[in-house]
Amino acid sequence: MCGIVGYAGSRAAQGILLKGLHSLEYRGYDSAGIAVLDGHDGMDVVCRTGKVDALDAALTGRGLAGTCGIGHTRWATHGRPSEENAHPHRDCSGRIAVVHNGIIENFAELKDRLVGEGHVFVSETDTEVVAHLLERFYEGDLLAAMRRCVSFLQGAFGLAAVCVDEPDRIVVTRRDSPIVIGAGGDCALVASDIPALIDVTRDVIYLDDDQFAVLHTSGDIECYARDGRQIEPKVSHIDWDVDVAERAGFEDFMDKEIHEQPRVVHDTLMGRLKDGRMTLDELALTSEQIAAIERIFIVACGSSYHAGLIGKNLIERWARIPVDIMVASEFRYSDPIVDGSTLVISITQSGETADTLAAMRLAHSHGSKVFTITNRVGSRASRESDGVIYTKAGLEISVAATKSFIAQVVALTCLALFLGQERGKLDGATVARLYAELNRTPGQIEHILLDTSAIERAAEACTQAHSALFVGRGIGSTVCYEGALKLKEISYLHAEAYAAGEIKHGPIALIDRNVPVVALACRSATYPQVVSNIQELRARTPSCVIVVATEGDEEIRKSADHVLYVPEIDECFQGITATVVFQLFARFIARARGCDVDQPRNLAKSVTVE
Ligand code: GLU
Repeated sequence: MCGIVGYAGSRAAQGILLKGLHSLEYRGYDSAGIAVLDGHDGMDVVCRTGKVDALDAALTGRGLAGTCGIGHTRWATHGRPSEENAHPHRDCSGRIAVVHNGIIENFAELKDRLVGEGHVFVSETDTEVVAHLLERFYEGDLLAAMRRCVSFLQGAFGLAAVCVDEPDRIVVTRRDSPIVIGAGGDCALVASDIPALIDVTRDVIYLDDDQFAVLHTSGDIECYARDGRQIEPKVSHIDWDVDVAERAGFEDFMDKEIHEQPRVVHDTLMGRLKDGRMTLDELALTSEQIAAIERIFIVACGSSYHAGLIGKNLIERWARIPVDIMVASEFRYSDPIVDGSTLVISITQSGETADTLAAMRLAHSHGSKVFTITNRVGSRASRESDGVIYTKAGLEISVAATKSFIAQVVALTCLALFLGQERGKLDGATVARLYAELNRTPGQIEHILLDTSAIERAAEACTQAHSALFVGRGIGSTVCYEGALKLKEISYLHAEAYAAGEIKHGPIALIDRNVPVVALACRSATYPQVVSNIQELRARTPSCVIVVATEGDEEIRKSADHVLYVPEIDECFQGITATVVFQLFARFIARARGCDVDQPRNLAKSVTVE
């Protein structure tokens, strides 16, 4: 979950490490630290709790001279956020330092043994065992020590280590945790993610599980397979722009990313309809394979799970294939009924979500084909899949998913149309009509973004609430789940979402004068039922009733204190448009409550621990 960065070259490492850490801060920001080898038998280690800015401030005016070092921004799993628990962690001699992303599951027993042998631990982290194991196995070769060390480790790890006795190198390895190496020519870098490298180089090497790399200050990079054989690294070139990661004048990345959604929808749809037929060539599925699919199982976490719920609705509606869906953290420990006739679809923005990857592996072990919907080319999930649909959301910096969620919904919509067409359940005219309707959504999102004042007013009415209840039906209920999640994530306002018909079976008891009701009542087959449910809720005197409704619906005003209009669209596509209203609603509330919209507490962008 954390951010790792390392630099070996001829320039001062400090500035490059700090810049890299800033760009990885979305991955975790409990504490941060760097270790820089000074090249004269010494190592400077500086750590601070809090964000990278605190580390920056601690280093102001210090200007560490070394040209080889490692850094870390932490998302604590073992031990509270504190300076002692901040990485890099060192061995007893202080000559070896290591940064770690992930969890060492057997750390307790390793620690007991090491303590028994006389090692002195100073932190509560699982990571510190790695530093002491390296010390135990070090005989003048850090790579050899790392090899022996990881043979004792269970769990997930991305590791980068340095040793004062080998001041010209960083040793790197990984298992179930992302690591990318930057080949800078006269320098070499390592990071958990590409934004930390891109300033220095666009040539990258993806390290596979149980591979090792040695990065030299000369720029040389040696890669080794798990059996110790040296292997030729495969270099890929990154063609994103650095400025995509800048705010482009918006107050926060979330606002920028919300405003990018019309383009994202457009890009994700581009080229999907050819000669009147939906195409998903990248899946390379034959008609026989499509006909043989008996069931689909969707696995995902968080917002991706909500996108999956919409996908389930649309695939069942259009392709008439039964779809199950489960959060990946449950699926991976269940005994799922999946086999060669089940298509498993995993959805993960980062392509590195630990639970989703584990779920995919379990599905593979049952003989299922696994397709992934992800935003990250070259990610672990994309490499482990039988087929990938890439969403075109671009780099998403804000921790709360916005444009990546919308892009997932669009990708799933295309998949559902494709499967409906290929299974002969949708004729050409219907596909063309639905696709044309789908193509209206970018313009509709632009329209919603043009005037957000009504959403802001509704948000103002809720800033003091202690809880909010979201209700909708069908796809609308899923939009509500996502709306409530956004509110929880970024404003810390408790929110729950329910299928509107469920409220009288329990949640209606929550309503009082401090609880606003947020209802999605756009024109749909269940519109009359949703309106009745709104009346039931209104009769219990919530603090206010906010209704998202279809433009032109004046009647709904009688049932609401605030009406937030969205343009008229087929209900199948309301997940794309109405969600935007809820994203804005959550952001307005978060800002009014003084919350850090882009980096909400306790969260991280890419969840690479289970
Ligand atoms: N498990 C380690 C810790 O709690 C690393 C967590 C992370 O990936 O940031 O320090």
